[in-house]
Amino acid sequence: MLTSYQLETPGLSWGKDGAPHSNQFDDVYFDKESGLEETRHVFLKNNQLFDRWVSMPNRAFVIAETGFGTGLNFLCTWQAFLNEAPSDKQLHFISVEKYPLSKQTLAAALKMWPSLQHFSQQLIDAYPVVCHGFHRIELEQGRIQLLLWFGEAEDGFEALDADVDAWFLDGFAPSKNPEMWSDNLFKHIHRLSHQGTTFSTFTAAGIVRRGLKNVGFDVRKVKGFGQKREMSVGELNQNVAPLTERMSQGQSWFNLRQNTHSNVSNVLVVGAGLAGANTAFALANQGIKVTVWEKGSHIACGASGNPQGMLYPKLASQDTPVNRFYLSAYLRAADLYSRLDKNNEFWDQCGLIQIPKNDKEAGRFEKLLRDKLYPDSILQASKDRKGSLFLPLSGWVVLTSLCEKLLSHNNITVNLNNPLEALTPVKDNGKTVGWNAVSKGEEVHFSHVVLCTANDTKALNITPHTPDYPIRGQVSYITMDNAKKACQRIGEPTDKLHFQKVLCEFGYVSPSINGLLHFGSTYDLKDQDDQVREEGHKRNLAILESLLILPKDTFKTEDCGGRVSFRCAVPDYTPIVGPVQTERVYQEAYAALQKNAKWKSNETAEPIQQLYLNIGHGSRGLISTPLSGQYIASLILGTPSPLEQTVSHKLHPSRFVIRDLKRSQ
Ligand code: SAM
Repeated sequence: MLTSYQLETPGLSWGKDGAPHSNQFDDVYFDKESGLEETRHVFLKNNQLFDRWVSMPNRAFVIAETGFGTGLNFLCTWQAFLNEAPSDKQLHFISVEKYPLSKQTLAAALKMWPSLQHFSQQLIDAYPVVCHGFHRIELEQGRIQLLLWFGEAEDGFEALDADVDAWFLDGFAPSKNPEMWSDNLFKHIHRLSHQGTTFSTFTAAGIVRRGLKNVGFDVRKVKGFGQKREMSVGELNQNVAPLTERMSQGQSWFNLRQNTHSNVSNVLVVGAGLAGANTAFALANQGIKVTVWEKGSHIACGASGNPQGMLYPKLASQDTPVNRFYLSAYLRAADLYSRLDKNNEFWDQCGLIQIPKNDKEAGRFEKLLRDKLYPDSILQASKDRKGSLFLPLSGWVVLTSLCEKLLSHNNITVNLNNPLEALTPVKDNGKTVGWNAVSKGEEVHFSHVVLCTANDTKALNITPHTPDYPIRGQVSYITMDNAKKACQRIGEPTDKLHFQKVLCEFGYVSPSINGLLHFGSTYDLKDQDDQVREEGHKRNLAILESLLILPKDTFKTEDCGGRVSFRCAVPDYTPIVGPVQTERVYQEAYAALQKNAKWKSNETAEPIQQLYLNIGHGSRGLISTPLSGQYIASLILGTPSPLEQTVSHKLHPSRFVIRDLKRSQ
């Protein structure tokens, strides 16, 4: 368990020519005379990338690197891929970095390469917040995908779910950095490789050659670049276990992938709320044609249609897989919304103040700040409200506009008033190869289906039982005019209404838009009433008055308007995202868990059905759906997952069946 998501900054000194030198490792990031040529020789040429790209069989080529550093290898590869690879192919570049450069240092280091300026500027613009974990960056309209792991190399590769075609083994000379070149690193390099995967590295050191040989690679010494005598290259020439087994790491019930990748022709996404819009967008952005079926008459007609939504993460004071999911999802969401709406038309990254609800929470906030689990760029002490937290990356969104923007992608077709009525698998030799979906009596064939149908999922009778349930939520609004009059009536200053940041405590209020102040929300269990109620306004007004430090009953319920919707919640507060498998097959295949909860298996019980669930986002869909959508896209396309494996297990739709098997021990 980590004690901080912060990372050590690299100690650098700079040569007269502007080249960075690592003080920690007493080594250079790249050769200042010929860095570009060296990268091209050592990594591109010696992995035979140009030839392999021209005839690559899959949609995507996957490269993994140890030591991202300044990103020079990545930039050279990106440039070469655009020049050499067929235009319908995609590059996935994965890299790990324990001492990430800040954005400013990265910009300073990359100044040395004017010929790469077009690429380096885009990388600098998209460079993530420096925080432990995976960060996915999409470039060239999704054609180039960079997955960065900030943290120890070995941990990143242990967490990774990917099938790597070529390795760039960089990362300072083994004599200066022996810790990185560990047996575990080589073990994971092997786990993530298939027959034919190559590697190249600038070094010919024995520790590296032996490490790779021991896990099964053929290793050769070849002439090094320029004056350097030798470097190493090689290939995995042995049969390896199928991908699903290599990825399962003893927990094959959480298998996510198919061994052979079927054609992804036309994907059906059911539901046009935040989950559906983000799933469709993530697929469309990677060149996939997506059809969205929505039973309602407009986009975001369920819980995703509230007028104003807050990007409000509840960051925990301990590192857990679920917290890592929400943290990673939060960074992805804040970044995506800022990119989609540069003109602040529907997204305002104004920041959010989280006010403690009671003394216990105040103590927890204090501890959070004292322990420095999160970097300052994510969490700080509020300067406006003593004892409160400030989250500078947060803000508010007009939800419908966001969903409309996501769904306006050219690769997406949205069919409204189009309920999914039946879904039947198309089988070939007992294996599901697609789906026939029926709406309004018409049958359409799709290769893959993703259900983003929240509380409507159960009624479809397609998926195994999941324990999600609806929670009623009523939001309220009041006009600024009425709110002002109410304050004046009791002699309170009206500037209390003109705050600039989202405020959260028992509920939330966000800065006014279009002359309205939106606030809420009620949390009504076992309540199916879809009508706006006065008592709901009353509870929401109490929230508002507390947030704005106004006396009780400042506002009147008759001045309020509102909206009711139903969140789709899950008892473990974690969404249900991933491939759908049948309960019965699971119970039979993994019955051994009933006798021994620690039983391990790498054997996959059944082929994945090309059917996926993306539901259960509760009140946090604005945070969790962009990353969940990206994750579903990676499962469908067979590309590197943006989630750590332990995190994807927590989201898996079959986690409940597995938990029940283990419990019946
Ligand atoms: N590939 C880089 C480029 O194109 O700029 C240069 C990499 S530099 C030679 C080596 C990098 O490995 C440094 O950025 C260093 O911080 C990183 N590194 C060293 N040890 C590491 C470890 N144990 N885990 C992850 N990264 C590590």
